[in-house]
Amino acid sequence: MTPEQLLKEADRCVKCGLCLPHCPTYLLLESEADSPRGRISLIQALASGELPAGKSMETHLARCLSCRACESACPSGVRYGALIDGGRTLIADQHRGRPVWRRIFGLLSDRQRLERWGKFHTLLQRSGLLRITRLFPSMRLRRLISLGQFLPKQVGVLTELHAAKRPTGRLVQLFTGCVGSQTDQQLIEQSLSLLSHLGYAVEIPANQVCCGALHRHNGYPEQADRLCETNRLQAEKSRAECLITLASACHLELNEHLKSDLPITGMTDFLLDLPQDALPNLQPLTKKVVVHTPCTSQNDRSQELLRLIPGLEIEALPENSICCGAAGSYLLTQPELSATLGAKKLVGLKASNAEILITGNTGCALQFRQLIVQSELNVDVMHPVELFARQMENCTGNA
Ligand code: SF4
Ligand code: SF4
Repeated sequence: MTPEQLLKEADRCVKCGLCLPHCPTYLLLESEADSPRGRISLIQALASGELPAGKSMETHLARCLSCRACESACPSGVRYGALIDGGRTLIADQHRGRPVWRRIFGLLSDRQRLERWGKFHTLLQRSGLLRITRLFPSMRLRRLISLGQFLPKQVGVLTELHAAKRPTGRLVQLFTGCVGSQTDQQLIEQSLSLLSHLGYAVEIPANQVCCGALHRHNGYPEQADRLCETNRLQAEKSRAECLITLASACHLELNEHLKSDLPITGMTDFLLDLPQDALPNLQPLTKKVVVHTPCTSQNDRSQELLRLIPGLEIEALPENSICCGAAGSYLLTQPELSATLGAKKLVGLKASNAEILITGNTGCALQFRQLIVQSELNVDVMHPVELFARQMENCTGNA
């Protein structure tokens, strides 16, 4: 968005304040500058040149989670998500000499670098040096290093074509993402086996790259557009009937920015939209799960999918409309606020006595895994499709 376009969009805000009670940072910090209305005023001042991109401006815009709870609540239909992305781009444009975050986003969005990071973390762990890193004064650095524990020990990117168990001539493309391609390998393998069981061949193009959400929400739309274009080319040259996503954040980004004729659908929706008799039989499971709804999944159908598992007790995590604090790179860029929001979620999780937490987004899963490890809780974190696929194993399916 150009400054003129930003001003035009921001002018649609009538400053009614109806979005304020929905904003996690406003509820936490009780400051107008950390509310949607306050940030829109700051973006107006920035875009018109009334205020420079100084430290305070940067801080208030950086504290926004981009959760877009305010956007859903706004009766005037202000496109807050586009405004905050545009505001951050103006700031990034004025601070071109600050490459640190760009490098970190580059690390997070590059599969090969993530693989190396996972190996480095294992090395730190084996040598005993990991304990020393826990003493680092920077919470950002501690969180960054600690995320390495969720990267697989045995790395590998599951690309290329995966044949169907019972070939039906149907083909889908699977989008595995950047961080997700490493941390969600079990989910990817189970999705492949589920799709194969249903008669679908699956392609994961070797040239598939990060969806670009990390870059777009941090002020680097050109990099995001470049990544999007690479993914668009993979979609365009495919014979697949649809592109299936696993993480809700990637899904939202691709849905809003991938200009392709290939229909995009989430894996949960894909399964639920199949004829009921096409789905496999599932083993019963007498456990309790709580379902966390990611901000990027407004019409989350996880509970609908889980209800197909006989015996499963399903509950929504309390305050599901409030962000868990993962918010893409937020758990690294704003570690203190992220941890405070995460700690609130943990209260609800503990009170539920659930054994499994379900979430359909990679970033949220990482946030919960980190919180659960820190508080020594015995709770598994899973994608709804992971649990569904697990209950399918050893069953004689209808498909
Ligand atoms: S963003 Fe919408 S809800 Fe919030 S103050 Fe502006 S007009 Fe009101
Ligand atoms: S996107 Fe979320 S954190 Fe940012 S202003 Fe809106 S409600 Fe608040």
